[in-house]
Amino acid sequence: MGVRIFGQLIRHTSLSMASSTTLDAILSLSKRKGFVYQSSEIYGGLNGCWDFGPLGVELLRNIKDSWWKAMTYRTDIVGIDSSILMHPRVWEASGHLQQFSDPMIDNKTSKSRHRADNLIEEYIHRLRAKNKTADAERVESQLAAAQNNDDLHRIIVDNAIPDPVSGTTDWTEVRNFNLMFETHVGPVADAANVVYLRPETAQGIFVNFKNVMDAARMKPPFGIAQIGKSFRNEINTKNFLFRTREFEQMEMQFFVKPGSEGEWFDYWRQARWDWFVNNLGIKADHLHRKPHEKLAHYAAAAEDIEYLFPFGWGEVEGIHSRTDFDLARHQEFSGKKLEYVDTVTKDRYTPYVIETAVGATRTFMALLCDAYAEEEVPTGDGGSETRAVMRFAPSLAPVTAAVLPLVNKDGMPEAAQAIMRNLQRSFRVDYDTSGAIGRRYRRQDEVGTPFCITIDGETLSDSTVTLRDRDTMQQIRVHTDALSGEIRRRLEA
Ligand code: ATP
Repeated sequence: MGVRIFGQLIRHTSLSMASSTTLDAILSLSKRKGFVYQSSEIYGGLNGCWDFGPLGVELLRNIKDSWWKAMTYRTDIVGIDSSILMHPRVWEASGHLQQFSDPMIDNKTSKSRHRADNLIEEYIHRLRAKNKTADAERVESQLAAAQNNDDLHRIIVDNAIPDPVSGTTDWTEVRNFNLMFETHVGPVADAANVVYLRPETAQGIFVNFKNVMDAARMKPPFGIAQIGKSFRNEINTKNFLFRTREFEQMEMQFFVKPGSEGEWFDYWRQARWDWFVNNLGIKADHLHRKPHEKLAHYAAAAEDIEYLFPFGWGEVEGIHSRTDFDLARHQEFSGKKLEYVDTVTKDRYTPYVIETAVGATRTFMALLCDAYAEEEVPTGDGGSETRAVMRFAPSLAPVTAAVLPLVNKDGMPEAAQAIMRNLQRSFRVDYDTSGAIGRRYRRQDEVGTPFCITIDGETLSDSTVTLRDRDTMQQIRVHTDALSGEIRRRLEA
């Protein structure tokens, strides 16, 4: 949950400005193949918003399914789906109305607006790139010591940090900018009926804590999980899906008896790490843990899981030990008791919360970056060529198998379509007849299809097909009756 208090300003942006080639390649492949498009592109696009195309929607859904299974296929966690618009008092209680803001600064010449802390961080990176290490460390320690907007302003002015757009140092003061989108319910747009698009899904869980505990007969330790859209009017949207104004989150609040939060925090930080490595197949050396050095006043502990994006390390998930802060605040603001009462021991307490908060769309981007590879492979004629391949874990790939009749005649299309229809009962299957078989394999490699099934002359006589593996490119012959089972076995391997 991102209530941004000052102590957390120096959060995730350990940008190392690595080469942007991969990101460019991924962006272009994304559009060309139908993973992600710019929102309202034909009108010039809308900043910070993206649309998921036919392959993107499958991949995103697979990520969400993987999370949902990992989190709710157990007896101590249940799911909900709460509404995006909520009572405005929710955001008073949560602190978002007062505190969910970023410090921003405007350049008077270019009229461009920046997050003050990001402007300083980017300046530090430029100093490092020029090997001005002593200067970089000096500004870094000034930033670490910053306590308020005046301190940030002083760092920018004292170091004469220029505007990246105009190059001038003609800056306004640093002001807070609330990130919640505001709208109105009903026909009259006045202050009495203001509502907000939720900036996180977590509050929908806190306000339903009692409903869920009672109806599902849960008792601590137990959790509530939710996947849904969140909205933040981010000042700087950049790096593709990393920081957008509309995005999807997967959050889980785990309610525990006070005193046991340390043990559960350790449990969840390990469980969530394992999900990235084991379930998503993300390379462990592309992930690291970043404990928060400065904690929010209500937090007992917090740690981010960061991914090594092409532009540097960036948070994908936060695991937070939040005491009883949220439930206590909602109790105070709503006047409703949000406690657990043990009917036998009469023990009564407001549970403490361990929260796991991960971005589905940001994880989607991490997965695209992690899966993308270009490699030299041998061609049939003894030469070699470069292939682009998306090495998605087979169970997450947008398309599981492609059925490819070697030629589009001689009864092969009919045999291929029968095989396709059979496989479609269990898997997402593509069908492609156009071009040489090698080109069709490349096309499937590029979108990460783990299995290609080729129907040839032999298929018609002995009902076998070739099954090609995306990563090893090895082909084996499999009887059509055994095909589904073989694919399932490989998906589960
Ligand atoms: P950041 O520091 O990157 O702004 P945060 O610490 O505010 O993130 P949380 O409020 O903890 O983030 O949200 C949990 C997760 O939601 C983040 O780890 C991230 O994956 C995702 N998320 C948050 N803001 C955005 C955004 N603007 N665009 C895409 N994903 C986001």
